[in-house]
Amino acid sequence: MNCTRCGFCLPSCPTYIQTGGNEASSPRGRIALMKSVVEGRKNPDAEVEAQLNECLGCRACEPACPSGVNYGHLLEQARAVINEHKSYSFPVKVLRKATFDWLFMSHNRMEKLHSLRYMYEKTNVQKVMRKVKVFKLFPGEVETMEKVVPAALPPSQVKEYDEFEFADKPSVRRVAFFRGCLMSTMFAETNESTRFLLKQAGCDIVTPKMQECCGALHAHGGETDKAKLLAKKNIEAFEKAEVDVIVSNAGGCGAGLNEYPFLLRDEPEWAERAKRFADKSMDISTLLAKLELPPMELDSQLVTYQPSCHLNNVMKEKGNVEKLLGKIEGVEYVAMRDKEQCCGSAGIYNLVQPKMAMKILDKKMSDVKATKASRIVTSNPGCLLQMKAGVEREKLTDEVQAVHIVDLLAEAVRKGIKAEVY
Ligand code: SF4
Ligand code: SF4
Repeated sequence: MNCTRCGFCLPSCPTYIQTGGNEASSPRGRIALMKSVVEGRKNPDAEVEAQLNECLGCRACEPACPSGVNYGHLLEQARAVINEHKSYSFPVKVLRKATFDWLFMSHNRMEKLHSLRYMYEKTNVQKVMRKVKVFKLFPGEVETMEKVVPAALPPSQVKEYDEFEFADKPSVRRVAFFRGCLMSTMFAETNESTRFLLKQAGCDIVTPKMQECCGALHAHGGETDKAKLLAKKNIEAFEKAEVDVIVSNAGGCGAGLNEYPFLLRDEPEWAERAKRFADKSMDISTLLAKLELPPMELDSQLVTYQPSCHLNNVMKEKGNVEKLLGKIEGVEYVAMRDKEQCCGSAGIYNLVQPKMAMKILDKKMSDVKATKASRIVTSNPGCLLQMKAGVEREKLTDEVQAVHIVDLLAEAVRKGIKAEVY
């Protein structure tokens, strides 16, 4: 904890800003709190937990720190300690078990849950629930979030991809695709767009069947052992693919994959393999920005971009989305004020800390409105849902659309191909 207490990180911290400059809600304040726990001057009690829970984990404080403090790693370790000492209430225990031990430990289960969600929508149960306003009974922004989650695709379309697919033109790369668990179920269309773009860019695709969830949710939730287990499964699955590049299309997952060397640092058998894996991992925007896509075209429009904090601050892959937008004829990119600041989504933060999340979102939406853009592109499913929720809250659904960057690019490539044919 080589924090010199200089305070350079303070202006980059959304919770510090939103609390009007409360030191306890700042990176420096939280580091001091963690330090006092480590040194035994304080117990990891409810006060410590509340302060750490208020942190988004956006890691915007890291690039601002001249001493190179890796705040994200400190936070993860502190949460693991709290998790060890905490006795959860029965309902929370059940929920954590269902989420961490059961659902996110198996891709098959995610697919089964998706089929249930499809049935729930198709049998009109959802319509009835909405009509009797059941979601109003839930705390926070559950009602808004429920509205913006994309409609479930038929389970027949949420299928396993072929393990090997050829590029649509002479091959320039052999790329492994990290399909993600939410991306391949709830956001299956975005995964389709990703595979379409890779093939259009001349990439042969390997999608290892044995891959699992990235484990980021577990690592952030203090479930380090399970995060390690998932990391090992993924490393093994992708080693077999024998590729130089592993792409993901969700900033949160990409950062999770990038953190495998830290996660497995104490296991000699895995540390080097984890490093090799992480060195090959990159976001889809980084790869596509390096390759040649067919001419892209869209109707004339202003587009702004909400970057994913994890893509910016952990993967440190900046500027590629803007570069790609610049290649689309008809698109004028307009940067929003303070675009580097978190949108308040942060995994499940917007559900567990709705007040702070919505304050942060409201500021973000005022920055979006100032751009006059009709599209907001994002690079992470959580940011996408949060932007959709912001649009819904501001009653802008007729004027502004939030969309994942690969969906926008795929739309532009398709229009470009059509224009070439006619
Ligand atoms: S991770 Fe984000 S919210 Fe947490 S202290 Fe750092 S800047 Fe603030
Ligand atoms: S975390 Fe870094 S920037 Fe923030 S107070 Fe400590 S040394 Fe300074």
